[in-house]
Amino acid sequence: MAGNKRFPRRPSRTVHVGPVPIGGAHPVSIQSMTTTHTRDLRETLAQIRRLAAAGCDLVRVAVPSLSDADALAQLVRSSPVPLIADIHFTTSLALKALEAGVAKVRLNPGNIDDPDGLRRVLARAAELGRPIRFGVNSGSVRGAAGARLVRRPARGPRARAAGARLVRRPARGPRACATGASDSRDLARLMVDVLMEWVHQAETEGFRDLVLSAKASDVPTTLEAYRLLAEACDLPFHLGITAAGPMDEARTRSAIVLGALLSEGIGDTVRVSLTGSPVNEVLMAQEILAELGLRPRLGLRIISCPTCGRCEVDLIGLVEALKARTRDVLAPLTVAVMGCVVNGPGEAVEADVGVAAGKGHGILFREGEVVRKVPEKDLLDVLLQEIRTLADKARR
Ligand code: SF4
Repeated sequence: MAGNKRFPRRPSRTVHVGPVPIGGAHPVSIQSMTTTHTRDLRETLAQIRRLAAAGCDLVRVAVPSLSDADALAQLVRSSPVPLIADIHFTTSLALKALEAGVAKVRLNPGNIDDPDGLRRVLARAAELGRPIRFGVNSGSVRGAAGARLVRRPARGPRARAAGARLVRRPARGPRACATGASDSRDLARLMVDVLMEWVHQAETEGFRDLVLSAKASDVPTTLEAYRLLAEACDLPFHLGITAAGPMDEARTRSAIVLGALLSEGIGDTVRVSLTGSPVNEVLMAQEILAELGLRPRLGLRIISCPTCGRCEVDLIGLVEALKARTRDVLAPLTVAVMGCVVNGPGEAVEADVGVAAGKGHGILFREGEVVRKVPEKDLLDVLLQEIRTLADKARR
């Protein structure tokens, strides 16, 4: 599904990451990144397979050393999804990754200071028809490359051609000294300026298969950076917020960033990053995209009330048990679990299946019709049976 009427996508160029198109009218794809040492073939491949099984379209692997680069060819051969090499500092590793067959390379302009190496990577990627993502993070862009750009702003037609709006005002104050940016807006501009300078260099070399990302670790800077980027170019964007934190924090920050930007049509591929299992990154990304109607749902959509003093059953326990026992159900069914008759029947009737609880029992609804009254002790089993029957029907 490529955007929808409510959230039309920003027009962008299409690049192909192996068989997965990014940008244009193509579906917003889901990415994640392995947490293993890439050179550990067995563990890395096992994690790639788990990610692919969870619905991940593209998997990125870290390539910090030669031994990691040496593992790539085997991983590429065995992976069920296209692999992306994540490269910092060293362009020679990017060349090795390209030779190993990765479908895309991510370079960090914030920590690569090697124009000749960059030219070689661009030339080889062009020969092989592989795209490159220039991905800056707020943390790394404050370093050498970012600082140099701030000190030496490009002017004239070259900067205009790149769409660059370089930081013109030196940052001040203790925080500014540390960051090179006086506030979130300056930091967002710095990220965009560094990116657009790299875009200009790549396009000067004739290389156009680019994807961009500008991730900060806070919501306002990330939103600002992507909105500025969207004004500056028509390249496809990889969306995300960096260092998003553990599960709960990551869920909130990612939902705000991805939700806001995707609802403005900005974003072509997404990564929810979190400190924890990358499979959860994929599940969260699916949830966000499905709620926006940008991807079909892979699994149940449970709607349940928060409960209140009117609820006479253990609804929280029921919902937790239902969630735990339906993780394998991939049918896009809506299941309503409501605590009483105030809103219960209304919500349940709109769901594929649902219950509205009473005192020690629940009323079962299926596809808008009341089916029967079910004792509280049987509610979970009856709901599970109904869900599996509807899921089987949906598969046929
Ligand atoms: Fe309370 Fe009933 Fe609303 Fe649930 S559906 S929050 S129990 S009023």
